[in-house]
Amino acid sequence: MPLAEPPRFCPRCGRPFAADGSPARCSDAACGYVWYRDPKVGAGVVVSDAAGRILLVRRNHEPRMGRWAFPSGFVDAGEVVEDAAVREVREETGVEVRLDDLLGVYSEAGEQVIFVAYAGTLIAGEPRAGDEAIEVGLFAPDALPPLAFDHDDQIMQAWRARRLDA
Ligand SMILES: [Zn+2]
Repeated sequence: MPLAEPPRFCPRCGRPFAADGSPARCSDAACGYVWYRDPKVGAGVVVSDAAGRILLVRRNHEPRMGRWAFPSGFVDAGEVVEDAAVREVREETGVEVRLDDLLGVYSEAGEQVIFVAYAGTLIAGEPRAGDEAIEVGLFAPDALPPLAFDHDDQIMQAWRARRLDA
C-alpha cells in the first residue's frame, strides 16, 4: 500500500489545507486541524496444522488478487494486535488458531503498512474460504505456491529458523 495523500480540504471545517505532505495543516489557524500520515498496522499468521502443513488463502481482492498469502488483515484502532491476527485467521479461513510466537515486524521505506507476523497452530475447525478468499489450501512448507508479498519469503525464513531451534 503506497503512502496516503493528505486530503485537499479540512475534514473539520472544510477549508483548504495550507500544506501538502505530512503533517498537513488547515489554512484556518483558528480551526487548527493537523493531518498526520499515520502508518497502518497489519497482522498475519503462519498457521500450521497437526500434519505440519501451512494454511494459505488465495486473495479475491487487490492488491495481489489471485495470489496465495498468509491469512492477514488490518488491526482496528483499539484492538490488541494478537486479537486482530486471530480474528483475521477466523474470518478468512474459518479456523481457530493459537498464536505461538512473534516471527517479526516488517516495514519498508515509502510503504504505509507495518506488518506483524506470528507463528500459530490450528487448534479447531476445518479450513474454508471466507469472504476475502477465493479458496484456502494446506501446503507442505517446502512446496508453497508463490506468495503475494515481498516480505513473505522473509517471514517463511523466520518460521523455518524457529522450527530448527525447537
Ligand atoms: Zn479546518
